Amino acid sequence: MKKAKYISVWIVTAGLLVACGDNNEQAINENENANINSPGEENLNNQNTGTANSEENNNSNELNENTDNNQNETNENINEQDNENINEQDNELNDENVNNEEDKEPLYQIENNVTVRPIDEAPEEVVLLTIDDAPDNYGVEMAEILHDMDAGAIFFVNGHFLQNEEGEQQLKDIYELGFEIGNHTMTHQNLSDLSEEEQYEEIVQLNDLVEDIIGERPRFFRAPFGVNTDYSKQLMEEEEMQWMNWSYGYDYFEEYMEAEALEEIMVETEHLGNGANLLMHDREFTKDALRGIVEGLRDKGYEIVDPDKIK
Ligand SMILES: [Zn+2]
Repeated sequence: MKKAKYISVWIVTAGLLVACGDNNEQAINENENANINSPGEENLNNQNTGTANSEENNNSNELNENTDNNQNETNENINEQDNENINEQDNELNDENVNNEEDKEPLYQIENNVTVRPIDEAPEEVVLLTIDDAPDNYGVEMAEILHDMDAGAIFFVNGHFLQNEEGEQQLKDIYELGFEIGNHTMTHQNLSDLSEEEQYEEIVQLNDLVEDIIGERPRFFRAPFGVNTDYSKQLMEEEEMQWMNWSYGYDYFEEYMEAEALEEIMVETEHLGNGANLLMHDREFTKDALRGIVEGLRDKGYEIVDPDKIK
C-alpha cells in the first residue's frame, strides 16, 4: 500500500516534470521564432567561420588588435541580449510588434537617388550620414560615437571585409548598435568594368552574406565610385533595393585627410542643405572628426535622419 503511494507520487511528479519540460521547450521555440528578425538570437546561430583571404584584412596588425577588443564587448552584448529576450520577450512580444510597425512607417524617400525628402509632413531640415568602405579599422568606433550621440547612419559595407570572424563580428557590432547596413559590393570594383553576371555576384552575393551574418538583407545600395550601370539599376528593382549616390564628401581629398579641416568643411560647405546625403569613410581622421561634424550639423539646425524612417 505504502509502496503504491510512493509510486503514484513518483508518477505524478515525473508527469509534472515532463509537462514543465514541454512548456519550457515551447516557450523557447516561441522565442526563437520571434527572434528571426532581431539581432541577438540570430547571431548566436550564425557563428560562421570564414577564412581570411582579403588583402585588407591580412595586412593590418592594428585591425587585429581592434577586433580582439571588440569581440569581448560583443560577447557581453550577445549574452545580455539573450537574457533579456528570454525574460521579456514572452510578455512584451505583442506590444513590441505593434510598436515596431508604427516605428517603421517611412517618413522620407530618396529623391533622384541622392536627396532625402519628406513624404508628407516630416521636417525638411534633415541630413543623412553614410559611412562607406566598412567595416575596416574604425567602423565600430564610429558606430559607437554616433550611437552615443543618438545619430543614425547607413554603413555601406564591402564583402572583402567580411571574410573572417573579426570582420563578421564588426558587422554584428555595428548592426547591434542600431545602424542600417547598406550594400557597397563584394570587392569594390567599378561596375562598368564588369559583365552582368559579375555585377550580379558583386551585389547579390553580398546581400546573401550580410543576411547570413545579421539576419537582414540590405535595403540600400551604393555603387563603388558612384558608378551605376543600366544592369545594376535593373537589379535594384529586382532586389527591391534603393540605390543612392551622395550630395558631398571630402575625406578622400588630400587636403581634408585630417580631422580639423574635415570637420570644418563638412559643416561649412555650400553643398549642405535640406536632405543632403553626406559621404564619409571608415577612416581614422573621419572617426576623429565625427563628433564635431554631428554637433556642427545640429548647430546649423539639421536633424540627423534615422535611416529606419527612409523608404
Ligand atoms: Zn567605396
